[in-house]
Amino acid sequence: MGHYSALAVVREAFRDHRGWQRAWQSPEPRRRYDVVIVGAGGHGLATAYYLGKNHGIRNVAVLEKGWLGGGNTGRNTTIIRSNYLQDASAAIYEKARTLYETLSQDLNYNVMFSPRGVMMLAQTEHEVRGYRRTAHANALQGVETEFIGPGRVKELCPIIEVRGPRYPVLGALWQPRGGTARHDAVAWGYARKCSEMGMDVIQQCEVTGIRTSGSDVSGVVTTRGDIDCGKLGIVVAGHSGHLADMAGFRLPIESVALQALVSEPIKPCMDVVVMANTVHGYMSQSDKGEMVIGGGADGFNNYTQRGSFSHVEETVRALVETFPMISRLKMLRQWGGIVDMTGDRSPILSGTPVGNLFVNCGWGTGGFKAIPGSGWGFAELMAKGESPLCAEFGLDRFREGRFIDESVAAGVAH
Ligand SMILES: Cc1cc2nc3c(=O)[nH]c(=O)nc-3n(C[C@H](O)[C@H](O)[C@H](O)COP(=O)(O)OP(=O)(O)OC[C@H]3O[C@@H](n4cnc5c(N)ncnc54)[C@H](O)[C@@H]3O)c2cc1C
Repeated sequence: MGHYSALAVVREAFRDHRGWQRAWQSPEPRRRYDVVIVGAGGHGLATAYYLGKNHGIRNVAVLEKGWLGGGNTGRNTTIIRSNYLQDASAAIYEKARTLYETLSQDLNYNVMFSPRGVMMLAQTEHEVRGYRRTAHANALQGVETEFIGPGRVKELCPIIEVRGPRYPVLGALWQPRGGTARHDAVAWGYARKCSEMGMDVIQQCEVTGIRTSGSDVSGVVTTRGDIDCGKLGIVVAGHSGHLADMAGFRLPIESVALQALVSEPIKPCMDVVVMANTVHGYMSQSDKGEMVIGGGADGFNNYTQRGSFSHVEETVRALVETFPMISRLKMLRQWGGIVDMTGDRSPILSGTPVGNLFVNCGWGTGGFKAIPGSGWGFAELMAKGESPLCAEFGLDRFREGRFIDESVAAGVAH
């Protein structure tokens, strides 16, 4: 697979771009792999990549029922931050954010990481106290954040109305190295590297059953035939419950639709990401100029990948108060994804009751930002049976009541 560089672009320009190779292969499934990963979203692909890169395990297949990155990875609003409250969360999200800083170079694929800064607005006294506390916790965790006042908020984002009638802006938790990245490119970059390492990324291959031998997993049944494996990783976000059911156990996961929308493209007017958790909305401006807007999750379980219209209205109505200028924008597109919510709003990276079967899910409304860190840790867990990054995120925490409560940091905004 060729190396992408400025020189390669110039070279191809002189030969009508006929020399580019396919970014990844489309192989037929083999009979057996050492490791099979179900789900070619960001987390599944990153797991495969770090299995190869960090642990030398390359006889790996990633099976995807649709197209790679077509799940939540290609549907999210791409906010990247690591300003979580609990130590275990801050560790894995900060690991991910740090890896994002050099991911384009690492993958030789431009993932367009843009550390433009993320602010979480405090619009009630309660939030002021909460975010001050998070800023202190982050200082102890080595995560760079600070609590800023309304003047600085206005300076960083002039289109905000800080004297809003219902919810004036009282300050914000500011993470200067948070930002965004191009979601498809993250999936494509990892897929390309996996393919380059000789792994099989197989699209249009749905897993319909899980086979066991004694107490261990032995393979999967797919729409393209049976495949044997030594180890199996389930990384399917909102479909995790179905896959667990196939293997004979249950997960503490609920699946709900979470939706987003974009406006018509306009001139650059906002170069930071703003999250307004009290009014339930968040916004950034894409490189194309669209205002990218996200809201809350549906209040009922479903698999629609659409989201309800009432939520669109609620989100836009709430945001207009803080960003009055968006009242004059036309909205272009709206879509949804099926997110996998746990009770404590923290992920599950864990072994399961079935031997050699591992599960990575529960990222809910906020897993895009975690992709590199999650892949790093989950690959280590699958390769060695333990990983410091994943240690706190086991399934046993639900039995033992050892929750990692991130309902404020992760339950609403992203
Ligand atoms: C509207 C919206 C906005 C969001 N905004 C943000 C944000 O700003 N920041 C952030 O950090 N996170 C955000 N998220 C959350 C983030 O998108 C997810 O947490 C993350 O993408 C999950 O990645 P994944 O790889 O686990 O899942 P996915 O990308 O969903 O990948 C799972 C894959 O598994 C496949 N699959 C399912 N069942 C099977 C089967 N039986 N066989 C084979 N394949 C199967 C699916 O087709 C899918 O491609 C948002 C999500 C949504 C929906």
